[in-house]
Amino acid sequence: MTAAETPLGRKRRARRMARMLAELHPDAHCELDYADPFQLAVATILSAQCTDVRVNLTTPALFARYPDPAAMAAADRGELEELIRPTGFFRNKTNSLLGLSAALLSDHGGEVPGTMAELVKLPGIGRKTANVILGNAFGVPGITVDTHLARLVHRFGWTTATDPVKIEHAVGELIPKNDWTMFSHRIIFHGRRVCFARKPACGACGLAKLCPSYGSGPVDPDAAAKLLKGPRVAELAAAAERVNT
Ligand code: SF4
Repeated sequence: MTAAETPLGRKRRARRMARMLAELHPDAHCELDYADPFQLAVATILSAQCTDVRVNLTTPALFARYPDPAAMAAADRGELEELIRPTGFFRNKTNSLLGLSAALLSDHGGEVPGTMAELVKLPGIGRKTANVILGNAFGVPGITVDTHLARLVHRFGWTTATDPVKIEHAVGELIPKNDWTMFSHRIIFHGRRVCFARKPACGACGLAKLCPSYGSGPVDPDAAAKLLKGPRVAELAAAAERVNT
């Protein structure tokens, strides 16, 4: 994991880290609530600059009022804006939802398409959103390059790329395709619970021995354990102690 690391060495280290992430975060999953691909597309659009928890508080009433693209395309703009206002940027998001629903109706018979090429042509759907939809609603492997994944793969020394598409391809070279969707959930969980942007909990991190950025945050196990977040704090600290001692 130094500058002298070979491509094969990096791939082996990346796969060991991916296996450890699977051990550390067995509960990793898509945290948005949805019942079908359309609801997932809507929830993912709403999740921009907003927590999944807040989106999940907002969507039950939204989906009850507009259960499908036909209902949403015919929505009164003001009413739709009010329903999604708590998620922020509600005017832009309303434009995306109205545009998406209309395009699904006119071009796809009211169904969400299941390919990257078709998804990224839809209003409000970029590559990141398309990968979330493909991976979770269609079972097509996808790497979701969000802020957590981008930060962590830099810290892991897997890539120096900053362009999301380049990051996606770099990670795709290291991780087996079948694992892409679950890997994305696990690394995002690690970013939310352990490897924080400001103060990563390095001393309580099960990846410490494989991570060149160990020391970016507190290395004292007790101090680091206090930083951990989520419902599995005790398990995460114990796993880190087991692998690091
Ligand atoms: S050792 Fe530190 S920087 Fe590396 S993954 Fe763990 S918390 Fe993040």
